[in-house]
Amino acid sequence: MYIDTHCHLNFSQYDSDRAMVVGNAKKAGVKQCINPGVDLHSSQEVLELAKLYPGVIFPALGIHPHEAQHDPDVQKLDSLMNDQVIAIGECGLDYFQYKGEQALGKKDKQKRLFDEQLRLALRHNLPVIMHCRDAYEDFFTVLDALPSLPKGTIHCFSGGLQELRQAQARKIFVGIDGNVTYSKQLSLTVPSIPLSMLLLETDAPYLTPVPHRGERNEPKYIPLIAKQIAQLKGITTKVLADTTTTNAQTLFTSLH
Ligand SMILES: [Zn+2]
Ligand SMILES: [Zn+2]
Repeated sequence: MYIDTHCHLNFSQYDSDRAMVVGNAKKAGVKQCINPGVDLHSSQEVLELAKLYPGVIFPALGIHPHEAQHDPDVQKLDSLMNDQVIAIGECGLDYFQYKGEQALGKKDKQKRLFDEQLRLALRHNLPVIMHCRDAYEDFFTVLDALPSLPKGTIHCFSGGLQELRQAQARKIFVGIDGNVTYSKQLSLTVPSIPLSMLLLETDAPYLTPVPHRGERNEPKYIPLIAKQIAQLKGITTKVLADTTTTNAQTLFTSLH
């Protein structure tokens, strides 16, 4: 059995065939999916979706760093909280668009939004699904400034060995996606990721693995990602599946 720890099944790409997508996931052995929100509206949507697919789709409430420029209100996120919510996220830092730019004010807004959601997670004793792109230095600085470290995962991990060690030192998990089937960098990093900190995710509808690149991604492709990671690590797919499922259940304690 597999768990897709990060997919966006509430997105409009699935409006015409969502039930089939969930069914296909089940058939492929992907029994549970974690669906993070990316803003206030989508966080509301994932709560509704989780009600439609109880025990299959689990909601996380979060505001993506791309939203930081609109000054979203994290208090409103807090007001959506209920017993179904499995995590806070996705939240984090994304400096990809700020390359070669100082962009100090914009980065500060992202850092503040990230910090507020980390504190929300601590207050509710929930794990955090974190997004980090081209921002690892500030990312760990924000985390380390907290009164205590929340449990969490860096989803769609794109760092190198140094960032991996920094995550490991803080007992943070890392999620690997379908780009492991074509990314040179990931094929070099993944063998060094300890099995005990590894999670599987699709980030569907994005990052579709080979041989389906260019098509819409779905949770049913998790086994393709697992196969590639197992190969890179020189272990069986069964061991990889079992360990990553246990890891997901360890981090997201309300999965059952
Ligand atoms: Zn993300
Ligand atoms: Zn995402």
